[in-house]
Amino acid sequence: MTFNWNYMFGLVADAEFWRATWTVVKLSFLTWIISIALGFFLALAKQSKRRLFNLPARAYIWLFRSLPLLVLLIFIYNVPQAWPASTVVLSDPFWAGLMAMVLSETAYVAEIHRGGLLSIHKGQTEAARALGLAFFGTQWRVIIPQALRVALPSLANEYISIVKLTSLVSVISLTEVLMVGQRLYSENFLVMETMAAVAFYYVFIVTVIDFLLKRLERFLDVNLRNVSRVPDAEVLALATQQRPVLARAAATGNEVPALQATRLHKAFNDVEVLGAVSLAIQPGEVVSVIGPSGSGKTTLIRLLNGLEQIDNGDIKINGQPFIHLEKQGAQKPRFIENPAYRLNIGMVFQSFNLFPHLTVLDNLLMAPRYHKLGPVEELKQQAYALLHKVGMLDHTWKYPHQLSGGQQQRVAIARALMMRPQIMLFDEPTSALDPEKVNEVLQVIEALAQDGITMVIVTHEMNFAFKLSDRIVFMEKGRVVCDDKPQVLRSGHNPRVEAFLKDVQLA
Ligand code: ADP
Ligand code: MG
Repeated sequence: MTFNWNYMFGLVADAEFWRATWTVVKLSFLTWIISIALGFFLALAKQSKRRLFNLPARAYIWLFRSLPLLVLLIFIYNVPQAWPASTVVLSDPFWAGLMAMVLSETAYVAEIHRGGLLSIHKGQTEAARALGLAFFGTQWRVIIPQALRVALPSLANEYISIVKLTSLVSVISLTEVLMVGQRLYSENFLVMETMAAVAFYYVFIVTVIDFLLKRLERFLDVNLRNVSRVPDAEVLALATQQRPVLARAAATGNEVPALQATRLHKAFNDVEVLGAVSLAIQPGEVVSVIGPSGSGKTTLIRLLNGLEQIDNGDIKINGQPFIHLEKQGAQKPRFIENPAYRLNIGMVFQSFNLFPHLTVLDNLLMAPRYHKLGPVEELKQQAYALLHKVGMLDHTWKYPHQLSGGQQQRVAIARALMMRPQIMLFDEPTSALDPEKVNEVLQVIEALAQDGITMVIVTHEMNFAFKLSDRIVFMEKGRVVCDDKPQVLRSGHNPRVEAFLKDVQLA
Protein backbone atom coordinates (compact mmCIF):
# COMPACT_ATOMS: atom_id res chain seq x y z
CA MET A 1 0.00 0.00 0.00
CA THR A 2 1.31 3.45 -0.86
CA PHE A 3 0.64 6.67 0.96
CA ASN A 4 -0.30 9.43 -1.43
CA TRP A 5 1.71 12.34 -0.05
CA ASN A 6 0.85 14.69 -2.85
CA TYR A 7 -2.84 14.24 -2.26
CA MET A 8 -2.44 14.83 1.46
CA PHE A 9 -0.46 18.05 1.01
CA GLY A 10 -3.02 19.17 -1.54
CA LEU A 11 -5.72 18.95 1.14
CA VAL A 12 -3.87 21.42 3.33
CA ALA A 13 -4.80 24.14 0.88
CA ASP A 14 -8.36 22.90 0.38
CA ALA A 15 -10.91 25.70 0.54
CA GLU A 16 -13.65 23.56 1.99
CA PHE A 17 -11.39 22.39 4.81
CA TRP A 18 -10.56 25.98 5.68
CA ARG A 19 -14.23 26.92 5.71
CA ALA A 20 -14.86 23.97 8.04
CA THR A 21 -11.92 25.09 10.19
CA TRP A 22 -13.53 28.50 10.55
CA THR A 23 -16.79 26.79 11.60
CA VAL A 24 -14.90 24.80 14.24
CA VAL A 25 -13.20 27.94 15.56
CA LYS A 26 -16.51 29.82 15.76
CA LEU A 27 -18.38 26.93 17.37
CA SER A 28 -15.69 26.16 19.93
CA PHE A 29 -15.02 29.76 20.83
CA LEU A 30 -18.68 30.63 21.29
CA THR A 31 -19.19 27.48 23.36
CA TRP A 32 -16.22 28.38 25.53
CA ILE A 33 -17.16 32.02 26.12
CA ILE A 34 -20.85 31.35 26.79
CA SER A 35 -20.04 28.44 29.12
CA ILE A 36 -17.56 30.59 31.04
CA ALA A 37 -20.20 33.26 31.58
CA LEU A 38 -23.05 30.88 32.47
CA GLY A 39 -20.70 28.65 34.47
CA PHE A 40 -20.07 31.48 36.91
CA PHE A 41 -23.74 31.76 37.78
CA LEU A 42 -23.93 28.01 38.18
CA ALA A 43 -20.82 27.92 40.38
CA LEU A 44 -22.12 30.76 42.56
CA ALA A 45 -25.49 29.02 42.85
CA LYS A 46 -23.84 25.76 43.84
CA GLN A 47 -21.83 27.57 46.50
CA SER A 48 -24.86 29.38 47.85
CA LYS A 49 -26.07 28.34 51.28
CA ARG A 50 -29.70 28.60 50.09
CA ARG A 51 -31.20 25.35 48.89
CA LEU A 52 -33.32 27.24 46.41
CA PHE A 53 -30.10 28.00 44.52
CA ASN A 54 -27.78 25.15 45.31
CA LEU A 55 -30.17 22.24 44.71
CA PRO A 56 -31.00 23.12 41.08
CA ALA A 57 -27.31 23.90 40.45
CA ARG A 58 -26.24 20.53 41.83
CA ALA A 59 -28.92 18.75 39.78
CA TYR A 60 -27.84 20.54 36.61
CA ILE A 61 -24.17 19.69 37.04
CA TRP A 62 -24.98 16.10 37.91
CA LEU A 63 -27.29 15.64 34.90
CA PHE A 64 -25.24 17.32 32.20
CA ARG A 65 -21.97 15.77 33.27
CA SER A 66 -23.57 12.35 33.07
CA LEU A 67 -25.11 12.76 29.62
CA PRO A 68 -22.91 11.87 26.62
CA LEU A 69 -22.63 14.86 24.30
CA LEU A 70 -23.66 12.70 21.35
CA VAL A 71 -26.98 11.88 22.99
CA LEU A 72 -27.55 15.53 23.81
CA LEU A 73 -26.73 16.63 20.25
CA ILE A 74 -29.20 14.27 18.65
CA PHE A 75 -31.82 15.12 21.22
CA ILE A 76 -31.53 18.90 20.76
CA TYR A 77 -31.42 18.61 16.97
CA ASN A 78 -34.72 16.73 17.10
CA VAL A 79 -36.52 19.01 19.52
CA PRO A 80 -38.35 20.74 16.59
CA GLN A 81 -40.26 17.49 16.03
CA ALA A 82 -41.96 17.92 19.38
CA TRP A 83 -41.91 21.71 19.42
CA PRO A 84 -42.16 23.13 15.91
CA ALA A 85 -41.62 26.75 17.00
CA SER A 86 -37.97 25.92 17.79
CA THR A 87 -37.32 25.04 14.13
CA VAL A 88 -36.19 28.62 13.45
CA VAL A 89 -33.07 28.09 15.54
CA LEU A 90 -32.57 24.38 15.96
CA SER A 91 -32.96 23.27 12.36
CA ASP A 92 -29.57 24.87 11.74
CA PRO A 93 -27.00 22.29 12.91
CA PHE A 94 -24.63 25.08 13.99
CA TRP A 95 -27.06 26.53 16.51
CA ALA A 96 -28.34 23.14 17.64
CA GLY A 97 -24.70 22.03 18.11
CA LEU A 98 -23.83 25.22 19.96
CA MET A 99 -26.77 24.78 22.30
CA ALA A 100 -25.96 21.16 23.11
CA MET A 101 -22.29 21.96 23.66
CA VAL A 102 -23.05 24.95 25.88
CA LEU A 103 -25.48 22.90 27.98
CA SER A 104 -22.87 20.26 28.53
CA GLU A 105 -19.78 22.46 28.89
CA THR A 106 -21.42 24.84 31.36
CA ALA A 107 -21.57 21.96 33.84
CA TYR A 108 -17.82 21.28 33.49
CA VAL A 109 -16.80 24.94 33.46
CA ALA A 110 -18.88 25.62 36.59
CA GLU A 111 -16.75 23.10 38.46
CA ILE A 112 -13.56 24.75 37.18
CA HIS A 113 -14.87 28.13 38.33
CA ARG A 114 -15.73 26.70 41.70
CA GLY A 115 -12.10 25.71 42.11
CA GLY A 116 -11.10 29.28 41.26
CA LEU A 117 -13.68 30.80 43.60
CA LEU A 118 -12.63 28.56 46.47
CA SER A 119 -9.03 29.65 46.06
CA ILE A 120 -9.86 33.29 46.84
CA HIS A 121 -9.24 34.10 50.48
CA LYS A 122 -12.32 35.04 52.49
CA GLY A 123 -10.56 38.24 53.55
CA GLN A 124 -11.22 39.55 50.03
CA THR A 125 -14.98 39.20 50.43
CA GLU A 126 -14.78 40.74 53.89
CA ALA A 127 -12.73 43.71 52.68
CA ALA A 128 -15.27 44.29 49.90
CA ARG A 129 -18.13 44.03 52.35
CA ALA A 130 -16.46 46.43 54.75
CA LEU A 131 -16.29 48.88 51.84
CA GLY A 132 -20.03 48.51 51.34
CA LEU A 133 -20.04 46.43 48.15
CA ALA A 134 -23.14 44.29 47.71
CA PHE A 135 -23.03 40.65 46.57
CA PHE A 136 -22.82 41.18 42.82
CA GLY A 137 -20.45 44.13 43.14
CA THR A 138 -18.13 41.98 45.24
CA GLN A 139 -18.26 39.10 42.79
CA TRP A 140 -17.83 41.23 39.70
CA ARG A 141 -15.11 43.57 40.93
CA VAL A 142 -13.18 41.50 43.43
CA ILE A 143 -13.76 37.76 43.30
CA ILE A 144 -14.37 36.93 39.63
CA PRO A 145 -11.30 38.73 38.22
CA GLN A 146 -9.09 36.87 40.68
CA ALA A 147 -10.87 33.52 40.33
CA LEU A 148 -10.70 33.76 36.55
CA ARG A 149 -6.95 34.23 36.71
CA VAL A 150 -6.61 31.08 38.84
CA ALA A 151 -8.96 29.10 36.59
CA LEU A 152 -7.47 30.22 33.29
CA PRO A 153 -5.04 27.30 32.78
CA SER A 154 -7.87 24.82 33.37
CA LEU A 155 -10.20 26.84 31.18
CA ALA A 156 -7.61 26.84 28.39
CA ASN A 157 -7.42 23.08 28.74
CA GLU A 158 -11.17 22.87 28.51
CA TYR A 159 -11.06 24.92 25.33
CA ILE A 160 -8.90 22.27 23.71
CA SER A 161 -11.38 19.58 24.73
CA ILE A 162 -14.16 21.66 23.21
CA VAL A 163 -12.30 21.94 19.88
CA LYS A 164 -12.06 18.18 19.72
CA LEU A 165 -15.67 17.69 20.80
CA THR A 166 -16.87 19.78 17.85
CA SER A 167 -16.08 16.75 15.65
CA LEU A 168 -19.12 15.08 17.21
CA VAL A 169 -21.39 17.73 15.76
CA SER A 170 -20.93 16.04 12.36
CA VAL A 171 -23.61 13.56 13.49
CA ILE A 172 -26.20 16.28 13.06
CA SER A 173 -24.63 17.05 9.67
CA LEU A 174 -22.71 20.20 10.51
CA THR A 175 -19.97 20.64 7.93
CA GLU A 176 -17.01 20.74 10.26
CA VAL A 177 -13.51 19.38 9.61
CA LEU A 178 -14.21 15.70 10.26
CA MET A 179 -17.32 15.79 8.09
CA VAL A 180 -15.40 17.28 5.15
CA GLY A 181 -12.81 14.51 5.50
CA GLN A 182 -15.44 11.77 5.68
CA ARG A 183 -17.11 13.01 2.53
CA LEU A 184 -13.79 13.00 0.68
CA TYR A 185 -12.63 9.54 1.65
CA SER A 186 -16.01 7.98 1.00
CA GLU A 187 -15.49 9.05 -2.62
CA ASN A 188 -11.80 8.31 -3.16
CA PHE A 189 -11.05 5.78 -0.37
CA LEU A 190 -7.80 7.56 0.55
CA VAL A 191 -8.69 7.26 4.22
CA MET A 192 -5.20 7.57 5.71
CA GLU A 193 -4.26 10.63 3.66
CA THR A 194 -7.54 12.39 4.34
CA MET A 195 -7.43 11.70 8.06
CA ALA A 196 -3.84 12.97 8.21
CA ALA A 197 -5.11 16.22 6.71
CA VAL A 198 -7.99 16.29 9.21
CA ALA A 199 -5.46 15.83 12.01
CA PHE A 200 -3.42 18.70 10.61
CA TYR A 201 -6.39 21.06 10.85
CA TYR A 202 -7.17 20.16 14.46
CA VAL A 203 -3.53 20.43 15.51
CA PHE A 204 -3.34 23.78 13.73
CA ILE A 205 -6.42 25.18 15.55
CA VAL A 206 -5.29 23.94 18.95
CA THR A 207 -1.75 25.27 18.50
CA VAL A 208 -2.86 28.75 17.50
CA ILE A 209 -5.46 29.02 20.26
CA ASP A 210 -3.09 27.61 22.86
CA PHE A 211 -0.51 30.23 21.92
CA LEU A 212 -3.07 33.03 22.21
CA LEU A 213 -4.36 31.78 25.58
CA LYS A 214 -0.82 31.60 26.98
CA ARG A 215 -0.35 35.22 25.92
CA LEU A 216 -3.62 36.14 27.65
CA GLU A 217 -2.54 34.31 30.78
CA ARG A 218 0.72 36.23 30.92
CA PHE A 219 -1.08 39.49 30.22
CA LEU A 220 -3.45 38.91 33.15
CA ASP A 221 -0.72 37.90 35.58
CA VAL A 222 -0.19 40.97 37.74
CA ASN A 223 2.75 39.24 39.42
CA LEU A 224 4.68 39.74 36.20
CA ARG A 225 3.92 43.44 36.11
CA ASN A 226 6.59 45.70 37.37
CA VAL A 227 5.38 49.23 37.53
CA SER A 228 7.97 51.96 37.68
CA ARG A 229 5.72 54.95 37.15
CA VAL A 230 6.23 57.65 39.76
CA PRO A 231 4.06 60.67 40.49
CA ASP A 232 4.76 63.62 38.19
CA ALA A 233 4.55 67.29 39.15
CA GLU A 234 0.85 67.44 38.42
CA VAL A 235 0.01 64.54 40.73
CA LEU A 236 2.30 65.93 43.43
CA ALA A 237 0.52 69.25 43.19
CA LEU A 238 -2.87 67.55 43.43
CA ALA A 239 -1.74 65.51 46.41
CA THR A 240 -0.44 68.47 48.38
CA GLN A 241 -2.86 71.14 47.20
CA GLN A 242 -5.43 70.49 49.86
CA ARG A 243 -5.75 68.35 52.92
CA PRO A 244 -7.76 65.18 52.34
CA VAL A 245 -11.29 65.25 53.64
CA LEU A 246 -11.13 62.60 56.31
CA ALA A 247 -14.41 62.02 58.02
CA ARG A 248 -18.06 62.73 57.49
CA ALA A 249 -19.43 64.96 60.20
CA ALA A 250 -21.44 63.29 62.91
CA ALA A 251 -25.11 63.71 62.11
CA THR A 252 -26.24 64.69 65.60
CA GLY A 253 -25.12 66.59 68.68
CA ASN A 254 -22.20 65.70 70.90
CA GLU A 255 -24.08 63.79 73.57
CA VAL A 256 -24.99 60.86 71.34
CA PRO A 257 -22.25 58.24 70.99
CA ALA A 258 -20.91 57.81 67.46
CA LEU A 259 -21.09 54.07 68.02
CA GLN A 260 -22.99 52.32 70.77
CA ALA A 261 -23.08 48.58 71.28
CA THR A 262 -25.42 47.25 73.92
CA ARG A 263 -25.17 43.81 75.50
CA LEU A 264 -23.69 41.99 72.51
CA HIS A 265 -23.65 38.21 72.65
CA LYS A 266 -21.94 35.86 70.28
CA ALA A 267 -21.50 32.10 70.33
CA PHE A 268 -19.72 29.86 67.84
CA ASN A 269 -21.02 26.28 67.76
CA ASP A 270 -22.88 26.89 71.02
CA VAL A 271 -19.72 28.06 72.77
CA GLU A 272 -20.14 31.61 73.99
CA VAL A 273 -17.22 33.83 72.97
CA LEU A 274 -18.79 37.19 73.85
CA GLY A 275 -21.19 37.72 76.73
CA ALA A 276 -23.12 40.95 77.26
CA VAL A 277 -20.42 43.27 75.94
CA SER A 278 -21.42 46.93 75.91
CA LEU A 279 -19.36 49.73 74.48
CA ALA A 280 -19.98 53.40 73.71
CA ILE A 281 -17.63 55.44 71.55
CA GLN A 282 -18.03 59.22 71.60
CA PRO A 283 -17.26 61.27 68.48
CA GLY A 284 -13.53 61.98 68.28
CA GLU A 285 -12.66 59.39 70.88
CA VAL A 286 -9.79 56.91 70.49
CA VAL A 287 -10.48 53.64 72.27
CA SER A 288 -8.04 50.73 72.43
CA VAL A 289 -9.18 47.19 73.11
CA ILE A 290 -6.58 45.00 74.80
CA GLY A 291 -6.56 41.58 76.40
CA PRO A 292 -5.14 38.08 76.06
CA SER A 293 -5.44 36.06 72.85
CA GLY A 294 -8.83 34.43 72.41
CA SER A 295 -10.58 36.94 74.68
CA GLY A 296 -12.95 37.95 71.86
CA LYS A 297 -11.41 41.23 70.64
CA THR A 298 -11.55 40.33 66.96
CA THR A 299 -15.06 38.96 67.34
CA LEU A 300 -16.17 42.21 68.96
CA ILE A 301 -14.74 44.34 66.13
CA ARG A 302 -16.34 42.06 63.54
CA LEU A 303 -19.72 42.28 65.25
CA LEU A 304 -19.46 46.07 65.31
CA ASN A 305 -19.36 46.32 61.52
CA GLY A 306 -21.62 43.39 60.72
CA LEU A 307 -18.97 41.02 59.36
CA GLU A 308 -20.21 38.59 61.98
CA GLN A 309 -23.86 38.39 63.04
CA ILE A 310 -24.79 39.14 66.62
CA ASP A 311 -26.79 36.58 68.61
CA ASN A 312 -28.22 39.21 70.90
CA GLY A 313 -28.00 42.92 71.66
CA ASP A 314 -27.96 45.86 69.27
CA ILE A 315 -25.66 48.42 67.72
CA LYS A 316 -26.50 52.05 67.11
CA ILE A 317 -24.71 54.67 65.06
CA ASN A 318 -25.30 58.32 66.07
CA GLY A 319 -28.21 57.03 68.14
CA GLN A 320 -29.87 55.41 65.11
CA PRO A 321 -30.37 51.63 64.84
CA PHE A 322 -27.62 50.05 62.72
CA ILE A 323 -27.77 46.38 63.66
CA HIS A 324 -30.47 44.66 65.65
CA LEU A 325 -32.44 41.44 65.82
CA GLU A 326 -36.08 41.16 64.95
CA LYS A 327 -37.88 38.64 67.11
CA GLN A 328 -40.21 36.35 65.20
CA GLY A 329 -42.19 34.43 67.80
CA ALA A 330 -40.52 31.11 68.57
CA GLN A 331 -38.32 31.24 65.46
CA LYS A 332 -34.70 32.29 65.38
CA PRO A 333 -34.64 36.12 65.40
CA ARG A 334 -33.84 37.79 62.10
CA PHE A 335 -30.59 39.78 61.73
CA ILE A 336 -31.32 43.30 60.50
CA GLU A 337 -28.64 45.67 59.28
CA ASN A 338 -29.36 49.17 58.07
CA PRO A 339 -27.10 49.47 55.02
CA ALA A 340 -27.30 53.26 55.12
CA TYR A 341 -24.87 53.28 58.05
CA ARG A 342 -22.42 50.68 56.77
CA LEU A 343 -20.18 53.32 55.22
CA ASN A 344 -19.96 55.21 58.51
CA ILE A 345 -17.57 52.49 59.63
CA GLY A 346 -14.14 51.89 58.08
CA MET A 347 -12.24 48.71 58.77
CA VAL A 348 -8.54 47.90 58.76
CA PHE A 349 -7.70 44.19 58.91
CA GLN A 350 -4.75 42.43 60.51
CA SER A 351 -3.88 40.86 57.15
CA PHE A 352 -4.46 44.08 55.10
CA ASN A 353 -6.72 42.34 52.54
CA LEU A 354 -5.75 44.64 49.69
CA PHE A 355 -7.13 43.60 46.31
CA PRO A 356 -4.10 41.98 44.64
CA HIS A 357 -5.38 42.40 41.08
CA LEU A 358 -5.63 46.18 41.39
CA THR A 359 -2.98 48.88 41.64
CA VAL A 360 -2.71 50.90 44.83
CA LEU A 361 -4.66 53.73 43.19
CA ASP A 362 -7.41 51.39 42.00
CA ASN A 363 -7.60 49.78 45.45
CA LEU A 364 -8.46 53.25 46.75
CA LEU A 365 -10.81 54.20 43.92
CA MET A 366 -12.80 51.00 43.61
CA ALA A 367 -15.33 51.44 46.42
CA PRO A 368 -15.88 55.22 46.00
CA ARG A 369 -16.51 54.66 42.30
CA TYR A 370 -18.86 51.80 43.06
CA HIS A 371 -20.80 54.08 45.42
CA LYS A 372 -20.53 56.99 42.97
CA LEU A 373 -19.17 59.28 45.67
CA GLY A 374 -18.09 61.88 43.12
CA PRO A 375 -16.49 62.57 39.75
CA VAL A 376 -13.44 60.37 39.08
CA GLU A 377 -11.05 63.32 38.91
CA GLU A 378 -12.16 64.49 42.34
CA LEU A 379 -11.83 60.98 43.76
CA LYS A 380 -8.36 60.69 42.27
CA GLN A 381 -7.32 63.92 43.92
CA GLN A 382 -8.62 62.62 47.24
CA ALA A 383 -6.73 59.36 46.67
CA TYR A 384 -3.46 61.17 45.92
CA ALA A 385 -3.92 63.35 48.99
CA LEU A 386 -4.55 60.33 51.21
CA LEU A 387 -1.61 58.40 49.74
CA HIS A 388 0.53 61.44 50.42
CA LYS A 389 -0.77 61.51 53.97
CA VAL A 390 0.18 57.87 54.62
CA GLY A 391 3.50 58.34 52.82
CA MET A 392 2.66 56.08 49.88
CA LEU A 393 2.31 58.52 47.00
CA ASP A 394 5.48 57.20 45.33
CA HIS A 395 3.83 53.77 45.11
CA THR A 396 0.53 54.88 43.56
CA TRP A 397 0.78 52.67 40.46
CA LYS A 398 2.31 49.60 42.08
CA TYR A 399 0.49 46.36 42.79
CA PRO A 400 0.15 45.09 46.37
CA HIS A 401 2.68 42.28 45.80
CA GLN A 402 5.34 44.91 45.13
CA LEU A 403 4.92 46.43 48.60
CA SER A 404 6.15 45.48 52.07
CA GLY A 405 3.63 44.57 54.77
CA GLY A 406 3.89 47.98 56.42
CA GLN A 407 3.34 49.70 53.09
CA GLN A 408 0.35 47.48 52.33
CA GLN A 409 -1.20 48.30 55.67
CA ARG A 410 -0.74 52.03 55.08
CA VAL A 411 -2.50 51.64 51.72
CA ALA A 412 -5.27 49.68 53.45
CA ILE A 413 -5.74 52.55 55.90
CA ALA A 414 -5.93 55.04 53.01
CA ARG A 415 -8.41 52.76 51.24
CA ALA A 416 -10.71 52.75 54.27
CA LEU A 417 -10.37 56.54 54.63
CA MET A 418 -11.45 57.07 51.01
CA MET A 419 -15.02 56.32 52.12
CA ARG A 420 -14.75 59.12 54.71
CA PRO A 421 -15.95 56.89 57.51
CA GLN A 422 -17.05 58.44 60.75
CA ILE A 423 -15.44 55.66 62.79
CA MET A 424 -12.36 53.60 61.97
CA LEU A 425 -11.98 50.08 63.36
CA PHE A 426 -8.52 48.50 63.49
CA ASP A 427 -8.02 44.82 64.27
CA GLU A 428 -4.41 44.36 65.32
CA PRO A 429 -3.15 46.45 62.41
CA THR A 430 0.51 45.74 63.14
CA SER A 431 0.46 42.10 64.26
CA ALA A 432 1.31 40.72 60.82
CA LEU A 433 4.29 43.06 60.40
CA ASP A 434 8.04 42.73 60.91
CA PRO A 435 9.08 44.62 64.05
CA GLU A 436 10.81 47.37 62.08
CA LYS A 437 7.68 48.01 60.03
CA VAL A 438 5.37 48.41 63.02
CA ASN A 439 6.22 52.03 63.70
CA GLU A 440 5.48 53.33 60.23
CA VAL A 441 1.93 52.08 60.60
CA LEU A 442 1.53 53.28 64.21
CA GLN A 443 2.68 56.74 63.14
CA VAL A 444 -0.03 56.90 60.51
CA ILE A 445 -2.68 55.89 63.06
CA GLU A 446 -1.32 58.43 65.52
CA ALA A 447 -1.62 61.16 62.89
CA LEU A 448 -5.25 60.18 62.35
CA ALA A 449 -5.89 60.40 66.07
CA GLN A 450 -4.48 63.93 66.02
CA ASP A 451 -6.86 64.75 63.18
CA GLY A 452 -9.70 63.85 65.52
CA ILE A 453 -10.87 60.66 63.77
CA THR A 454 -12.98 58.40 65.96
CA MET A 455 -11.19 55.08 66.32
CA VAL A 456 -11.46 51.68 67.95
CA ILE A 457 -8.12 49.88 67.89
CA VAL A 458 -7.50 46.29 68.93
CA THR A 459 -3.78 46.12 69.64
CA HIS A 460 -0.96 44.39 71.47
CA GLU A 461 1.20 47.52 71.25
CA MET A 462 0.70 48.60 74.86
CA ASN A 463 2.89 51.71 74.81
CA PHE A 464 1.07 52.91 71.74
CA ALA A 465 -2.34 52.18 73.26
CA PHE A 466 -1.58 53.89 76.54
CA LYS A 467 -0.07 56.95 74.88
CA LEU A 468 -2.78 57.48 72.29
CA SER A 469 -6.06 56.32 73.77
CA ASP A 470 -8.72 58.30 75.55
CA ARG A 471 -10.00 55.04 76.96
CA ILE A 472 -8.80 51.47 77.17
CA VAL A 473 -11.08 48.45 77.20
CA PHE A 474 -9.59 45.33 78.77
CA MET A 475 -11.26 42.10 77.70
CA GLU A 476 -10.97 38.60 79.04
CA LYS A 477 -12.94 35.44 78.26
CA GLY A 478 -15.48 37.35 76.21
CA ARG A 479 -16.25 39.99 78.85
CA VAL A 480 -15.21 43.57 79.35
CA VAL A 481 -13.24 43.46 82.61
CA CYS A 482 -12.32 47.12 82.67
CA ASP A 483 -13.21 50.16 80.53
CA ASP A 484 -11.49 53.31 81.72
CA LYS A 485 -8.91 56.03 81.16
CA PRO A 486 -5.33 54.80 80.62
CA GLN A 487 -4.19 56.36 83.91
CA VAL A 488 -6.78 54.35 85.82
CA LEU A 489 -5.68 51.08 84.23
CA ARG A 490 -2.07 51.88 84.99
CA SER A 491 -2.77 52.69 88.62
CA GLY A 492 -3.16 48.98 89.40
CA HIS A 493 -6.72 49.08 90.79
CA ASN A 494 -7.64 45.94 88.93
CA PRO A 495 -5.48 42.89 89.78
CA ARG A 496 -6.28 41.10 86.52
CA VAL A 497 -5.28 44.12 84.39
CA GLU A 498 -2.19 44.56 86.50
CA ALA A 499 -1.15 40.94 85.94
CA PHE A 500 -1.65 41.35 82.19
CA LEU A 501 0.37 44.57 82.07
CA LYS A 502 3.11 43.28 84.37
CA ASP A 503 5.11 41.81 81.49
CA VAL A 504 4.76 44.91 79.38
CA GLN A 505 7.30 47.62 80.02
CA LEU A 506 5.18 50.73 79.76
CA ALA A 507 7.25 53.78 78.90
P1 ADP B 1 -8.97 37.59 70.06
O1 ADP B 1 -9.10 38.45 68.87
O2 ADP B 1 -9.16 38.32 71.34
O3 ADP B 1 -7.70 36.81 70.07
P2 ADP B 1 -11.17 36.14 68.90
O4 ADP B 1 -12.29 37.09 68.88
O5 ADP B 1 -10.44 35.93 67.63
O6 ADP B 1 -10.15 36.54 70.06
O7 ADP B 1 -11.69 34.74 69.38
C1 ADP B 1 -12.45 34.57 70.55
C2 ADP B 1 -12.83 33.11 70.64
O8 ADP B 1 -13.77 32.80 69.63
C3 ADP B 1 -11.68 32.16 70.46
O9 ADP B 1 -11.82 31.13 71.39
C4 ADP B 1 -11.85 31.64 69.06
O10 ADP B 1 -11.37 30.34 68.94
C5 ADP B 1 -13.34 31.70 68.88
N1 ADP B 1 -13.71 31.96 67.50
C6 ADP B 1 -13.48 33.10 66.81
N2 ADP B 1 -13.98 33.04 65.57
C7 ADP B 1 -14.55 31.82 65.45
C8 ADP B 1 -15.26 31.13 64.40
N3 ADP B 1 -15.49 31.71 63.21
N4 ADP B 1 -15.69 29.89 64.65
C9 ADP B 1 -15.49 29.30 65.84
N5 ADP B 1 -14.85 29.88 66.87
C10 ADP B 1 -14.38 31.13 66.69
MG1 MG C 1 -7.77 38.79 67.29
